Amino acid sequence: MEVRVENLTKAFPGTVAVNNVSLTFQSGKLSGLLGPSGCGKSTTLFLIAGLHEPTSGKIYFGDEDVTDVPPEKRGIGLVFQNYALYPHMTVEKNILFPLQNMKVPKDEALDRAYEMAKLVQIENLMKRKPAELSGGQQQRVAIARALVKHPRILLLDEPLSNLDARLRLEMRQEIKRIQQEVGITTIFVTHDQEEAMSICDEIIVMDRGNIMQVDQPQKLYTNPNSLFVAKFLGNPPINVTEAVVKDKKVLVNDAVVDTVDLPDQPVHFAFRPEDVLLYDDGPLQTEIQMVEHIGRDTMIICQINGTQVRGIIDSEIEVSAGQTVRFGFKKNRYFLFSKATGERLR
Ligand code: ATP
Repeated sequence: MEVRVENLTKAFPGTVAVNNVSLTFQSGKLSGLLGPSGCGKSTTLFLIAGLHEPTSGKIYFGDEDVTDVPPEKRGIGLVFQNYALYPHMTVEKNILFPLQNMKVPKDEALDRAYEMAKLVQIENLMKRKPAELSGGQQQRVAIARALVKHPRILLLDEPLSNLDARLRLEMRQEIKRIQQEVGITTIFVTHDQEEAMSICDEIIVMDRGNIMQVDQPQKLYTNPNSLFVAKFLGNPPINVTEAVVKDKKVLVNDAVVDTVDLPDQPVHFAFRPEDVLLYDDGPLQTEIQMVEHIGRDTMIICQINGTQVRGIIDSEIEVSAGQTVRFGFKKNRYFLFSKATGERLR
């Protein structure tokens, strides 16, 4: 089921957490709300869940206006970062709990609980209590409990934050698998760009209550529309230094990097580490400060224009600290962003 929000605003005293947001979450897809702490992603999720009342704007599930529908009547499954399982109940009772509230007959409820347990692969843990489970297992129970009601929408608020690094990797793949098996429209809140990039069909990048860009993960990465998005995605992060456009030339210090059809102005010049290409008559010159061998690749760290930049190059190219090199960019891949607005110019 498609979820649509129209001109959605939530103001708290002193803060506009969500600022006139209009957006469609596609039916059956896993959409990620991504952004730094405080950007309004949880508030957006809570508005969709009905846990917050919007200051203004509308929320639709399919064609149904649910803006004034209470949370328990919206048909949503919610999973939070801190599992929120009932500690005194067994896993089985935890999963059954929402069905008892809905007065589902006992046999049917048990069937459904075991079907969900199978889906999230915890059938053998049904008689345990939450304290006897690992963090990942507890999160599986929370997902089963959210899905057992057969909700229309699944909402996940930083569901992996409390897990250690290894479990986080495992569980994010599990969330993707479960979501695909059930085919449920899912909205996933995270501040971790790698997590969002790895499992989401579509990512909504937010900043200070506003939507910055909505796109498929790879497109956001290769085609950011602002410096904010370019900087938020990618590890190691994109390199950014100052440059100017003058007489149609892109100048980094005095080096002419390219010609562009843009008016004279100061710009942010940005490039991804993996797009660095060393070659003899490359437009930029630098001295390598440090070399890190990272398995398949080599990372060089140097300075351009007083800014530290990183390049990832083929490990077969021999380089050493102190060496002067010239470089340009693979397929001429670099970005220019307006210094005034951060908006992408090239
Ligand atoms: P985080 O990842 O830290 O949870 P977030 O992107 O989910 O951040 P929100 O929790 O949506 O951000 O908060 C957005 C803004 O609204 C923040 O400035 C926050 O302080 C404020 N805010 C959120 N909830 C409330 C509340 N109940 N009362 C007042 N201000 C709030």
